[in-house]
Amino acid sequence: MILTVTLNPSVDIAYPLDSLTINQVNRCPFAKKTAGGKGLNVTRVIQQMAVPVTATGFLGGPLGIFIKEQLANQQINQHFATIQDETRNCIAILHDNGQQTEILETGPMITPAELAEFEKIVTTEAKQAAVVTLSGSLPKGAPHTYYAQLLTDLKDTSAKVILDTSGESLKAVLVGNIKPYAIKPNLDELTELTGKKSLLDDLQLIKTLSQPLFEGIPLILVSLGNEGAFVKFNEAFYRVKIPKIKVVNPVGSGDSTVAGLAIALARGAEIDETLKTAMTLGMLNALESQTGAVNPLNFDTYFKQIVVIKQ
Ligand code: ADP
Repeated sequence: MILTVTLNPSVDIAYPLDSLTINQVNRCPFAKKTAGGKGLNVTRVIQQMAVPVTATGFLGGPLGIFIKEQLANQQINQHFATIQDETRNCIAILHDNGQQTEILETGPMITPAELAEFEKIVTTEAKQAAVVTLSGSLPKGAPHTYYAQLLTDLKDTSAKVILDTSGESLKAVLVGNIKPYAIKPNLDELTELTGKKSLLDDLQLIKTLSQPLFEGIPLILVSLGNEGAFVKFNEAFYRVKIPKIKVVNPVGSGDSTVAGLAIALARGAEIDETLKTAMTLGMLNALESQTGAVNPLNFDTYFKQIVVIKQ
């Protein structure tokens, strides 16, 4: 089983409008509402690939119930901590031929008791998990060391932990004692972390990933959008090349890549197969209009076209 953690999920609302007029009433005949948040994207993709998955995190209020129902409708196992405050909405207004204006609520405040309760849930569920994914930003009320704390809680389980976050919460883990098995920064996140720009060159990437900051993390996958990925696995480096595709919606491709990593690690795949699985699912997400969705029937076609080159 793969356990996915989404600490600040959302009900994502998409309002398609011909045009958005500021300071006026804008009527929207059709609103699409889906369960969102990076970890829930990971969850959906794993479920679509028919691999057992359990979703966990914090949910509260009517929007929390909405997410629970959506997951149940998709036959996704779930074990969330219930909170007093309310799960958030994130709004995307799609307008004026391809423009997107977003309003993202910060989300609910999690109390110390709820944070402690969640640590118990995640530790219990992780006993049955081969892989645990930790995705996204931390909710209000969680200290920036909360992911580092969860890694400490999980250190006595055999689950491999994949961490996909950025900013202070990622830094706190990198300087902490207990490391995740894998991280998946994109180029922007790597730049933010290291303060160095133009990292695309192989030698520069090798130098960057060899810094003491990354010591102790066996697998570092730097995802590079349509350029595939650059990877450090133990002491070896890999360039992963992917074919050109007709992109429909790349939002959530990073989450889908994490789903691929989790699936391959859960079945104990070798590094080549692991990286190809991760890249294939990233691409399959970019081929769909829905965020965090793949068509498993296309898996083999794209998997075959990926090349992993050891440096
Ligand atoms: P994030 O969504 O975290 O920024 P990326 O944009 O790097 O992550 O995408 C993750 C993976 O998804 C890529 O490594 C690649 O496999 C796939 N992908 C994303 N965008 C594209 C694209 N435009 N063309 C082909 N594959 C893509």
